[in-house]
Amino acid sequence: MNHFLDSYKIRITVAAAAGVVIYLVLLLVGSIFPLTGPGLTLHLLLTAFVGTMLAFGFLEVLVAFRKRQTKILNMIVDALRRISAGDLSVQLPETGAIELRQVSKLTNQIVGNLKQDISKLEKLERVRSEFLANVSHELRTPIFSIQGFIETLIDGAIDDPKVNREFLQKAYEHSVRLNTLLNDLIEISRIESGEMRMSFRYFNLPEFMRSIVEELEHKAEKKSIQIVCQLPEREILVLGDRERLRQVLSNLIDNSIKYTDDGGKVEVGFTDLQGTVRVYVRDNGSGIGEEHLGRIFERFYRVDKDRSRSVGGTGLGLAIVKHIIEAHNSRIEVRSELGKGSEFSFLLKK
Ligand code: ADP
Repeated sequence: MNHFLDSYKIRITVAAAAGVVIYLVLLLVGSIFPLTGPGLTLHLLLTAFVGTMLAFGFLEVLVAFRKRQTKILNMIVDALRRISAGDLSVQLPETGAIELRQVSKLTNQIVGNLKQDISKLEKLERVRSEFLANVSHELRTPIFSIQGFIETLIDGAIDDPKVNREFLQKAYEHSVRLNTLLNDLIEISRIESGEMRMSFRYFNLPEFMRSIVEELEHKAEKKSIQIVCQLPEREILVLGDRERLRQVLSNLIDNSIKYTDDGGKVEVGFTDLQGTVRVYVRDNGSGIGEEHLGRIFERFYRVDKDRSRSVGGTGLGLAIVKHIIEAHNSRIEVRSELGKGSEFSFLLKK
């Protein structure tokens, strides 16, 4: 956009006019406060000339400043064009008049935010496709096994009394595994899509924990694992979603049973703290190496894939636990030592 001061001729004319005005003003001042002495006219002319030069210099500086602002403005326009075309390598220097500096700063901030959003989206996309690959892999294993046993039975094993029942039993076990896996998958997708509705109520913690332990005692007995559950008789009310917390505790105790050798011990209880309780599930089982501790809450992450599968694990239990505990504004903690055992714990509000 052109400005009238961009023309050199106009600038000279304006500066000369300023000189004439200064001359006239000085004459006027001289007639009101008469000055005498030799060279007065020369003095007035010289002052007017200097005034003209000053006015000209001032206009030159003004124009140079305007040109610089125009250059910065053009740079911003060019940067915005590049951004709208998808180029996020743009970085504007934050200089010039204050408004331009603000525009450049905001543009840089927008570019920074866009870059962050894009890298988040890319990460989500990577996680999504990794998850899909994992799901397909996990589903394939039991489906192939079921297919294999049924095919062998069809091919004649059905008439062999030595193997027919065993193959049927194995096919059945894999179908149970498939069902567990699908249930966990449905659960995690409901949680992650935000469909899980929480219902927070006060409930009696000791009684609640006792009921869960009773449900799992049978499973522990099969491995001669003792579940030690030291809970007070008196009522202690905590705030949470009972059914979701049942899922959490069942999962943690079930894991402790799964990953503890026969004859081991699992302790379940809580510590009464001020305003909160720390619920824990401890075992003297296999323990988890330090390098795995940060990852066991990821979907499908297992320390020992074969052991997890052989004990009916889906690799999704702890991911579900983490989501539920976080929905309670709390955090699941784990302490573990390889070969010694593990402790999982979390805080609940009283
Ligand atoms: P899984 O269905 O395989 O048990 P989880 O998400 O419940 O999946 O647990 C993830 C992994 O963490 C398990 O495969 C196992 O390696 C490890 N893990 C969980 N709980 C324990 C525990 N109490 N002791 C030892 N390892 C455990």
